[in-house]
Amino acid sequence: MKPRDRLRIAAQKSGRLSDAGRDLLARSGLRFRESRDRLFCYGETEPVDLLLVRDDDIPGLIAEGVCDLGIVGRNVLREQSLEYARRGERAPFSELRTLGFGRCRLSIAVPQDFLYTGPASLAGTRIATSYPALMADWLDRNGVKAEVVTLSGSVEIAPKLGKADVICDLVSTGATLAANQLREVASILDSEAVLAGPAEALQDERGELAAQLLRRLDGVLEVRD
Ligand code: ATP
Ligand code: ZN
Repeated sequence: MKPRDRLRIAAQKSGRLSDAGRDLLARSGLRFRESRDRLFCYGETEPVDLLLVRDDDIPGLIAEGVCDLGIVGRNVLREQSLEYARRGERAPFSELRTLGFGRCRLSIAVPQDFLYTGPASLAGTRIATSYPALMADWLDRNGVKAEVVTLSGSVEIAPKLGKADVICDLVSTGATLAANQLREVASILDSEAVLAGPAEALQDERGELAAQLLRRLDGVLEVRD
């Protein structure tokens, strides 16, 4: 791959992290030639460009070296890190900063009539989730054997459809769970938006650009705290 001399940041194109993410970059002094509908936004104030993508693609883009930094939920980053860990490999990306927005938790929720007294109550159940690696890791750590059913969306209706007994999904207010007659019984991960970057810091001029951006970001995050 041809070495790049501009830094590239990946952020969610449209979703819960996109507005606050763009706002944070703006407050860090970055301006981009607007192109909300397109993938690539050219940085006008700094040699830093923005790529707008699906949040799930961000760790992979960093792994491939297509992007140098990314704004993504810890839930997505940890899930994909665990996929590497389960293959006995070290993830090529890591969490550099917590950004203070997009807060939620990955929680286990059960139907109203399900008797839950602790992790052991889940033994032998089918658990629907979009986060199979995080779920399997939690089950292992708690010494519970259960079947993890991976679904890419609409996890909360899986029990009603008979596809699973319980679910593990992202929760912020709990309104979706309540609407589906589900009760939150355990949280397996506290999440928020994070800045992700390569596990090994970049050694070229992009490394210096990244360090400079992190210093500015720290200033912005400090003011807000
Ligand atoms: P896409 O894949 O198209 O980028 P998405 O549907 O996966 O979008 P969103 O629903 O926008 O993504 O969620 C993005 C992130 O927002 C989640 O990964 C999570 O970190 C965070 N988040 C905060 N609160 C919630 C919530 N209540 N439900 C889901 N995600 C939440
Ligand atoms: Zn997504």
